[in-house]
Amino acid sequence: MGFAVSDELLGTVVPIVVYWIYSGMYMCLGSFENYRLHSKSDEEEKNLVSKLTVVKGVLFQQLLQAAVAILLFTVTGGHAGASSQQPSSFIVLASQFVTAMLVMDTWQYFLHRYFHENKFLYRHLHSRHHRLVVPYAFGALYNHPLEGLLLDTVGGALSFMLSGMCPRTSIYFFSFATIKTVDDHCGLMLPGNPLHIFFRNNSAYHDVHHQLYGSKYNFSQPFFVMWDRILGTCMPYSLEKRAEGGFEARPTKEFKED
Ligand SMILES: [Zn+2]
Ligand SMILES: [Zn+2]
Repeated sequence: MGFAVSDELLGTVVPIVVYWIYSGMYMCLGSFENYRLHSKSDEEEKNLVSKLTVVKGVLFQQLLQAAVAILLFTVTGGHAGASSQQPSSFIVLASQFVTAMLVMDTWQYFLHRYFHENKFLYRHLHSRHHRLVVPYAFGALYNHPLEGLLLDTVGGALSFMLSGMCPRTSIYFFSFATIKTVDDHCGLMLPGNPLHIFFRNNSAYHDVHHQLYGSKYNFSQPFFVMWDRILGTCMPYSLEKRAEGGFEARPTKEFKED
């Protein structure tokens, strides 16, 4: 029991640490002009919020989400329907992981899309995330705190419960989901990035969504692009070289105007 509670706490705290380490690594790589999706000056001109405000916003949200998660563990006694034993079979572990990814993607797609289609929710909640027209790694979780709770905390809880994974596995799953989310906002297309080999949903794919023309497209996050493809909201793009160096994700389909 003591270990189970400690694993649940780790499942909450480790992804926060991973977030800052992984995004910190990307900030060090940010000067690699030849791999950036936008120039530095674009980042300064187009973004509507300062980096300090983003750091404070993300930290506040992470604290709030951790507090809510710990409260949930306390109320449920640490047993939210999942088994406390980590399965030894690789097949079982892998299927739990994939199930959790599909649950999280499904939850996030429909809620994210609704946050765009409902003008009230967009204006009051989701527009905060879109203040970053030029995304960067530690801005990945810059959201309205209520959106963070609905999208990430509830989505995470559902993935955890429906996949049947144990708290120990969830430490790895939530850390991986955090790495994937940060990577999708890193603003770089680095050659050989293993996540870009396995996932079509990557930093260029999500960059399209962050552009002003992209608010009706590429809602899928953080893993697969299936819901965009099934429901016709996928915006294909070509990766063009920019004159100043780096790349640009340029849409290859007509997009709908407002
Ligand atoms: Zn959005
Ligand atoms: Zn984003």
